[in-house]
Amino acid sequence: YEADFISVNSYSETETMSAACDEMLRRLQTLDESRQEFVSNVSHELKTPLTSMKVLADSLMGQEDIPVELYREFMTDIGAEIDRENKIINDLLSLVKMDKSAGNINITSVQINELLERIMKRLRPIAQKQNVELVMESFRPVVAEVDEVKLTLALTNLIENAIKYNNPDGWVHVSLNADHQNFFVTVEDNGIGIPKEAQNRIFERFYRVDKSHSREIGGTGLGLAIARNAIIMHRGAIKVHSMEGEGTTFTVRIPLTYIS
Ligand code: ADP
Repeated sequence: YEADFISVNSYSETETMSAACDEMLRRLQTLDESRQEFVSNVSHELKTPLTSMKVLADSLMGQEDIPVELYREFMTDIGAEIDRENKIINDLLSLVKMDKSAGNINITSVQINELLERIMKRLRPIAQKQNVELVMESFRPVVAEVDEVKLTLALTNLIENAIKYNNPDGWVHVSLNADHQNFFVTVEDNGIGIPKEAQNRIFERFYRVDKSHSREIGGTGLGLAIARNAIIMHRGAIKVHSMEGEGTTFTVRIPLTYIS
């Protein structure tokens, strides 16, 4: 009976170990696949502006006696592609900084109302250009322990998106509230909305609902990945609620006190 017991027991232990190994292998494989996918996405995204620049430069080189206006037009296009390449590289660098996690976080006591006001002030001209009304409502003064640079980047990306993926005459409402433990920022817009099946993918690096639309308006597909990482570094959370054609609301929750 005892022998039986031992054999049953060791069998189940072996089984548990082998299941754990399988699980570990599966996780490593997934990690490797997502790393490969990331590298291939980065290469693709960085190559696109370069290819355009090469085509533009080649067609300039291939012509004799180019009229000045045409030359200017091509150079302007090349300049725009350089700006795009720069934006992708800057976003990638922000993302890498966030990936390096807690060691890199610089926590100070910050007036969140003022931080939001500064972001709104910076984004107002962009909103005005698109005829989008930008409104902020804060229910109480909030002071919290945060990394000011990272939080600014995260909230800027959310508010910028709400302006970008909007319609002329649309609006963006930003609100700030708090309870005893957390503060909450909501960014609500009445823009184009996000299809249901895309809602759990928008935080992935380089994921864009409509690649050409996002590219047209200067998107890199990294904004929400950066925002999410920054919020996670603060031990917070981000949620999205959206209806296609009606609008989108992002809600951010962040603890008032930093938990290391
Ligand atoms: P991008 O640089 O393309 O804006 P993000 O990572 O910031 O990349 O967002 C990913 C995608 O999520 C966008 O391309 C867009 O399709 C969608 N999206 C983000 N915010 C909004 C919003 N407020 N309204 C509608 N769609 C949005």
